[in-house]
Amino acid sequence: MSDRVLVVTGGSRGIGRATVLLAAERGYDVVFSFVSDKAAADSLVDAVSKAERTAVAVRSDIGVEADVLALFAAADRLGTLAGLVNNAGVLDLQARVDEMSVARLERMMRINVIGTILASREAVKRLSTRHGGRGGAIVNLSSAAAVLGAPGQYADYAASKGAIDTFTLGLGREVAAEGIRVNAVRPGLIDTDIHASGGIPDRIAQLRDTIPMKREGTAEECARAILWLLSDEASYSVGAVLPVTGGR
Ligand code: NAP
Repeated sequence: MSDRVLVVTGGSRGIGRATVLLAAERGYDVVFSFVSDKAAADSLVDAVSKAERTAVAVRSDIGVEADVLALFAAADRLGTLAGLVNNAGVLDLQARVDEMSVARLERMMRINVIGTILASREAVKRLSTRHGGRGGAIVNLSSAAAVLGAPGQYADYAASKGAIDTFTLGLGREVAAEGIRVNAVRPGLIDTDIHASGGIPDRIAQLRDTIPMKREGTAEECARAILWLLSDEASYSVGAVLPVTGGR
């Protein structure tokens, strides 16, 4: 049994994948979720086994309660939980608010907001000293959109990430005395597939010049910030939202 299990939601690609790999390098065994790309999930399990740690991939939609419970049941089978990275998140096609359907809004909020809260609930039940746990850390994925608003593109996504900022503060203060630190990373423009899923595959090229550092970020740069917030190096940080935006 592992004594240092990390749960990463949406670990198969992008920032989640980089986080799983770096966490394995830093000595965590990892349980991660995915929904569709099984080949990507399987290749990540192989990559982690080369780092002589264990990774377990669970097909689990973070917006479905039964799936979240199954994800944490897999973590319990692997060992003792040490932390959670609420990374899974979705965009939708560019739209104005006056064009958005209820189905779109419900999917966005269910995955980005409710999924994060459900997974956090399960982590707190295991980590909190109030429940007999030994403490740990939770890192949420916000977005620069939370402070930019994403007008005319995805104001719904931006609002979902604003909710993550507030939840990070609220849960952080709620469980700070129970051995759990809750913080967030706020990525800017990071080179992953998410931009194509928003219907603008060349979004980074379009916006590169607006970034003070004049370049996009990498998934690995986000992973390093996430692993720092998880670690004891961040021992007095609670409710923080760390920008990883190149200054944007
Ligand atoms: P990505 O490349 O699109 O990868 C998304 C990951 O989440 C995939 O592993 C996907 O699994 C998984 N996933 C999607 N829906 C899920 C669900 N319902 N349940 C469980 N897993 C699910 O995304 P990314 O760019 O790495 O973004 C990761 C996080 O950072 C998100 O919260 C995003 O909002 C945030 N963020 C990203 C950027 C950026 O520029 N990239 C900027 C700001 C914030 P499958 O492989 O099975 O599809």
